[in-house]
Amino acid sequence: MTQPIFLVGARGCGKTTVGTALAQALGRNFVDTDNYLLTSTQMSVADIVALEGWEGFRARESQALQTVTAQDTVVATGGGMVLAEVNRQFMREQGIVIYLRAPAQILADRLEAFPEEGQRPTLTGKPVTDEIVEVLAAREALYRETAHHVIDASHSPEAVVDAVLAALRMARAS
Ligand code: ADP
Ligand code: MG
Repeated sequence: MTQPIFLVGARGCGKTTVGTALAQALGRNFVDTDNYLLTSTQMSVADIVALEGWEGFRARESQALQTVTAQDTVVATGGGMVLAEVNRQFMREQGIVIYLRAPAQILADRLEAFPEEGQRPTLTGKPVTDEIVEVLAAREALYRETAHHVIDASHSPEAVVDAVLAALRMARAS
């Protein structure tokens, strides 16, 4: 199995954390579209949005996805990657898509514990938990429709990695 593995899900679901460990377990390279954007533009997400709007950010995000995608990689994606049909189709066609699913309260707790890692301009200007509930409600169907596998990401990173590995094994065996 060499086709890329894409991790999708809301901010805080563990795409970067689980992706890094998963890549290590599989002997793959790990790439992260958010990190790629930051290092290639030398700008934060907030900077890009202030300069080019969300539309400009989304265009750069699509570009980043296509640039980092390669055989033998685990690709962590930005939480909004599934918003564009072109991205959803690209990921489904090019590889295996895994949705790391966690309830809003868990996402909120994680982002509250480590706010610096989740720093993003607010999408709605509302309190964090309210915003997460709204964003999840709007995106849940897109995460599900894009994913080949939905994994419960509310457990420890090690347990989530094991669940992903089990899903990949089952898919290969079937
Ligand atoms: P994402 O890349 O999906 O936005 P991160 O991997 O950056 O999420 O995780 C966000 C925060 O939540 C980090 O502080 C990370 O340490 C923590 N975290 C991630 N996955 C888990 C997990 N399964 N259990 C507990 N904390 C987690
Ligand atoms: Mg991340």
